[in-house]
Amino acid sequence: MLDLLLPQRCLGCSRNGPQVCAACAVGLRRLRAPMCARCGRPTAWPVARCSECGGRRLAFAVARAAVAYDDPVRRIVAAWKERGLRRLAPWAAGIVVDVVARPEAGVLTFVPPDRDRRLKRGHHAAEGLARELAREWGLPAEPLLARTRPSRRQRGLDQGARRRNVRGAFAASGRVPPSVVLVDDVYTTGATANAAASALRRAGARRVEVVTFARAIRFR
Ligand SMILES: [Zn+2]
Ligand SMILES: [Zn+2]
Repeated sequence: MLDLLLPQRCLGCSRNGPQVCAACAVGLRRLRAPMCARCGRPTAWPVARCSECGGRRLAFAVARAAVAYDDPVRRIVAAWKERGLRRLAPWAAGIVVDVVARPEAGVLTFVPPDRDRRLKRGHHAAEGLARELAREWGLPAEPLLARTRPSRRQRGLDQGARRRNVRGAFAASGRVPPSVVLVDDVYTTGATANAAASALRRAGARRVEVVTFARAIRFR
């Protein structure tokens, strides 16, 4: 792998040294309680629903993430996804396991990649993370979802456009157990997680729990 041969720089801050330096690792904003019980958004006190998820029909029961999606996490995740740095999957999984309680579920699955993007990068971050989490949590990981059509990248789209972009974009195949954990690298507005969770629900899942490495925290 190319990234083993190059002199190493921290992906978060560009300092010489490991792929993620100690300062960046310590600086990760871990998302712990209090939070919204439904969507995992940090809140001042525990709430059942929050201003971000209240009034939305969500196909997933709960969403949880390990760290806030701010700098340098953005840069680390971008490198993980765009450069296919597969060693980041066990690193990210270690942080998820530290922060997020092990879900009670029959199987882990992941948001599937766009075919073109996957071929180009050779490593799919959500799948890599799901496989590492499966190992840590002692659960099977299975590719239950497929894309029904290519979608535009969600980046740069507003919330409504994100929802339209991924609506109906996923279909589940095979036997879907009643309780599923859906893994993705980042939860931004929840549009992708929701569309993928609906496909799992349509195929028979009764409860879908979303677990991501990072979560965008919007201030309003
Ligand atoms: Zn750093
Ligand atoms: Zn919420």
